[in-house]
Amino acid sequence: MPLDGVPAATAVRTTCPYCGVGCGVLATPRGRESADIAGDPNHPANFGRLCSKGSALGETLSLGDRLLSPSIDGDVVSWDTALDHVAQRFATTIAEHGIDSVGFYVSGQLLTEDYYVANKLMKGFIGSANIDTNSRLCMASSVAGHKRAFGSDTVPGTYEDLELADLVVFVGSNFAWCHPVLFQRLLAAREKRGTKIIAIDPRGTATTQAADLHLAIAPGADVALFNGLFSEISRRQAVDRSYVALHTNGFDAAVSAADDDYGADVAKLTGLTPDDLQRFYDLFVGTERVVTIYSQGVNQSTVGTDKVNAIINCHLATGRIGRPGMGPFSITGQPNAMGGREVGGMANMLACHMELGDLNHSRIVQSFWNSPVIASKPGLKAVDMFRAVHDGRIKALWIMATNPVDSMPDANFVRAAIDGCPFVVVSDVTRNTDTTALADVLLPSLAWGEKDGTVTNSERRISRQRAFLPAPGDARADWWQMAEVGKRMGYAAAFSFADGAAVFAEYAALSASENSGTRDFDIGAFADTTSELFAEMEPFLWPQPAGGAKVETRFFADGNFYTPDRRARFVPVSFRGLAQPTDAAFPFVLNTGRIRDQWHTMTRTGKTPRLTAHIAEPFVEIHPDDAAVVGVSDAALAIVSSALGHIVVRALITDRQRKGSLYVPMHWNDQSASTARVDALVAANVDAVSGQPELKGCAATIRPFAASWYGFAVTQLKPAIIAADYWAIAPTNTGWRMEVAGRDAIANLDAYALAMLAPSQSDAEILTYDDPKSGQHRFAAFVGETLIGALYLGPQPIAVSRNFAADSMDVAWPQNERRMRILAGKAGANERDRGATICACFDVGLNDIVSAIVDGKCMSVEAVGQALKAGTNCGSCRPEIGKIIHDQSRAKSS
Ligand code: SF4
Repeated sequence: MPLDGVPAATAVRTTCPYCGVGCGVLATPRGRESADIAGDPNHPANFGRLCSKGSALGETLSLGDRLLSPSIDGDVVSWDTALDHVAQRFATTIAEHGIDSVGFYVSGQLLTEDYYVANKLMKGFIGSANIDTNSRLCMASSVAGHKRAFGSDTVPGTYEDLELADLVVFVGSNFAWCHPVLFQRLLAAREKRGTKIIAIDPRGTATTQAADLHLAIAPGADVALFNGLFSEISRRQAVDRSYVALHTNGFDAAVSAADDDYGADVAKLTGLTPDDLQRFYDLFVGTERVVTIYSQGVNQSTVGTDKVNAIINCHLATGRIGRPGMGPFSITGQPNAMGGREVGGMANMLACHMELGDLNHSRIVQSFWNSPVIASKPGLKAVDMFRAVHDGRIKALWIMATNPVDSMPDANFVRAAIDGCPFVVVSDVTRNTDTTALADVLLPSLAWGEKDGTVTNSERRISRQRAFLPAPGDARADWWQMAEVGKRMGYAAAFSFADGAAVFAEYAALSASENSGTRDFDIGAFADTTSELFAEMEPFLWPQPAGGAKVETRFFADGNFYTPDRRARFVPVSFRGLAQPTDAAFPFVLNTGRIRDQWHTMTRTGKTPRLTAHIAEPFVEIHPDDAAVVGVSDAALAIVSSALGHIVVRALITDRQRKGSLYVPMHWNDQSASTARVDALVAANVDAVSGQPELKGCAATIRPFAASWYGFAVTQLKPAIIAADYWAIAPTNTGWRMEVAGRDAIANLDAYALAMLAPSQSDAEILTYDDPKSGQHRFAAFVGETLIGALYLGPQPIAVSRNFAADSMDVAWPQNERRMRILAGKAGANERDRGATICACFDVGLNDIVSAIVDGKCMSVEAVGQALKAGTNCGSCRPEIGKIIHDQSRAKSS
């Protein structure tokens, strides 16, 4: 494929850049800014399936928002100038203030090759370990738990185990939304073998909806629950005595700690009923093939590592690990969190699963790199790194492929830290983010579709991301940027990689260096990877040692752990409450997380109308009883605050939420909403072992936002300024949609409407409707037969069809009375209004589905799928469709 011109329209096999499932993608370029996307039927992670986010990848390739040139202090410069400047400033800072005065903050979005070069430069040539990653916020507690129990950061099982299990336990994981393709694999297997599903989550989700048993546990009480289970396993004589005796240490101390929590009354500690606890214990103890999936609800906690070990203890005690259909299974959030772990892209690891502080490992790495130094002590983990930036210990910081101003806890502190840092470099693909705004030097990176390298998914499978589009502007690979700075700092020999294949080959060779089975991570079979072999590389599971047969393995069925005596370690753990207890001022536990169709801080998924149409503005979930107490009404706006600040978001009142808890998604930022950066509320309390911050246990409160007016608008052009105390903006197919609200009455409604809908179109014709009795004011602006904007204002949350208004920008509106439909804000009797998007893959809305149900034709998810295609691609909307059918049936029978 010619990458320097118009790409050829042939499908390229690559990998999705979003979650840790790591789905294979077939991408066929359609011009420079679009591509047809399909699941790769031959990729072992997804066998052709993609979720809504993956399916929409072809719509994220536009260049309008891209960072395309290097710049220094806002002035565009050449790469040479930018790289010389970065190298010189880092070198000067090190010379004047020492090696620990600089830091790299990198990302699970990076390719393994990027990570490898960054880690090599910092740990082997600068000699500091001040490189950490946003994966610290994602799965550091799993790494720490694995290492405590196994002696290595090893994921024992594979995805196939989900299909071979008879019981799957989800802990702190909304798998149906966050790892949808794997969830669909599980549901397909369940159809055949009747797999039971238990979901442990404080709130109801699409995953708990599909479960046989939902344990709505008190926030942070997972250790007590799994200690209760461990104690029951012991009391019921369900321990695999042979496995424990042959392959483990520390059983007695761990079960004794578990017994203490058991004696303290697990029902009381977890808030669960004794009956539900018994059902959980019975199912786990009585089922040999059990997989326990855990994710951010476990990891993002000040006791995350203990939670991981509490889970692993139960699997070790029953010997259910490393055999088909059983084992503890950490699922990562990011596409290459695992790759970052493998190359040592964290401040407390060396490279290729070798240990900082292990003199033999340091020797192996240093001699392999032929480097002048090697980091001798752990560097600063993410939270501590930004504290060091804030107090001036770190004076030069390079941020790559991440947006810490939005994603770090205590995000306003982080913003101030970066703002005050003497020298900040940001490598990114997006020009305007809340973090790029603070950079001294901006370096344009390659985006998905342009970059070329490898990623590792949650089951240890290394897959290729391949370029299928030419590099735009001056964008260059992240690894190349790091290597060029390394060369300019005097290390030309170590950083003269010809291409990504050369980086990968070196990394593979290091993994095999003096290994001989002593370390889990060995991909020595790829040490001779050439550019040609790299181009053809098929997805593979590690380990793949040199000379060995190419087999895909599980770990630990026969012991052989990576501790000094090759035995696993039971870890005694005890229940502790949340680090930040609630009190009279902040009586709620605030949980943060993802939604189905968005990714991280929305720099890519936020570009896609069909993804933003599912949930278009930030919201807080609150239980109806709590909402009544605090006086928050459904669909009104609410102020959620903690000791650190406040946000303004839409209230979603639902009994899925646990009483006393709130839930706010993590995605919205200052580019997409007025005040919705939820991580600005979250204190930076961290797990003492892993350094991972608690993002799901913030003490908070909520009160109504005193809006005197609400509004909804669609516009052709993005407004330069949105004049409202509250706003949230998202793209539509033909423009933008906005939710707005204000505290004080609008002085001049006509002027306000004109400024919002037609700021520069003097020929616009404005149609208006005012109802003084209800306080409704509606405006529609036309130029010729084109609707260029519509605005709906009123004293209450606006009840118009958002999708109808947005779709109306795409059709002709001759001068006749039909134009009043725009002001009515809903379709006519014979016109289609699909309603809120439910199925993003096929753009099927709530009204479409309700009509199909009401007509009596579709009383099952499958029937809806047959009639409308909804839910038949990725399947992640199937739980919602099921709920709509259930709600409609209930409404009919009542
Ligand atoms: Fe991408 Fe969705 Fe697959 Fe995750 S499940 S890798 S987001 S397509």
